[in-house]
Amino acid sequence: MTLSNNLIYADYNANVPLRKCARDAMLECMEIAGNPSSIHKNGQNLRRIIENSRANISAALGNISGQLVFTSGATEAAQLAIESAAILEWGGVFIGAVEHDCVYKYASSRFPNARFIPLKSDGEYDIDWLEYAVSNIEKPLVLMMAVNNETGIIQNIKSASNIVRSKRGMILVDAVQALGKIEISEIVPYCDYLFVSGHKIGAPIGVGALVYAAGIDPYLGREGGGQEKGMRSGTQNAPAIAAFSSAITQTDFYAENEEISAIRDEFENQLITAFPNAMIIGQSAPRIANTSCFAIPNINAQALLIFLDLEGIAVSSGSACSSGSAKTSRAISALNLDKNFSENFIRVSFGYKNTIDEVRTILSAIQKAYNLQTRRAA
Ligand code: PLP
Repeated sequence: MTLSNNLIYADYNANVPLRKCARDAMLECMEIAGNPSSIHKNGQNLRRIIENSRANISAALGNISGQLVFTSGATEAAQLAIESAAILEWGGVFIGAVEHDCVYKYASSRFPNARFIPLKSDGEYDIDWLEYAVSNIEKPLVLMMAVNNETGIIQNIKSASNIVRSKRGMILVDAVQALGKIEISEIVPYCDYLFVSGHKIGAPIGVGALVYAAGIDPYLGREGGGQEKGMRSGTQNAPAIAAFSSAITQTDFYAENEEISAIRDEFENQLITAFPNAMIIGQSAPRIANTSCFAIPNINAQALLIFLDLEGIAVSSGSACSSGSAKTSRAISALNLDKNFSENFIRVSFGYKNTIDEVRTILSAIQKAYNLQTRRAA
């Protein structure tokens, strides 16, 4: 995406630029003065917008069997799901080793005896390990993401769910990076809780949704106005909800992903041609179309990131949500790679505004950074 200041934005896993349809829906809704809980006509209109949005998003997720609750984002949705799970008794709790911090940290503190599901060498969760780990217990609780935000690797939710459900357990799924990138309706029926975030598909930051399957009794501990059937008190963010609905219903994600995958593949082809020793994570695993997580030997990722930023190219190292710290991310360290690689991964995540031409610009900037770094080291 080229902005007026010539920025090339390739950090779509951190945030997808606001779509025009989402912006329009949001602005239109913002013109309606009122509170969705009010009795008067404006209140009714806002309620209608929220309920239509709920129906649209539910349908896009594949006509969920239970409820969809609007939240301020995925972090809040994850915590509501974890609180709901925490009021029940479990035979054992299993957290994916490379979950986003909003699950990993919160669930680790709520379930101090939890065990962590390891990765196989290709970056997928080791489902055989999980099957063995739950073989002697009943009612396991599993927390697992559908797609990793840093590597783009798609996890096998269906197999994990079959194992968990055969033991009368539950699976709670972070589908933030799956929405719009894989056919999410195929995994929704396998999840007991699933959550998504609007800003990862081009809605504004500050809206998300938690979905829970029929038959689940969620946690109703957040006292207040009782909105969202008592699960999430607080005035709903109707404009952002309308924008979320608009982004999900008006985008042809399939067509977009076809184009984005051509851009990502071209990027990786050019990268490997220029740097045959570069390592790209997840090439042998199922991967979403937009993400390239790579390291070039002898290239320092932080220095490269800063250089690219100065050149007007926005990418990321590690997870943007937790960045500010330069420590190796869990998604990478769980792969037990050579230090020369593991400390130096860069994530480029493309999206709907990127072009093939931008690939050349990014690559030539990486080449310049490489020349500078190797010259300095010589
Ligand atoms: N889960 C994953 C996989 C993410 O990538 C992110 C944000 O990057 C989150 C959860 C948190 O989402 P939110 O910003 O909506 O709280």
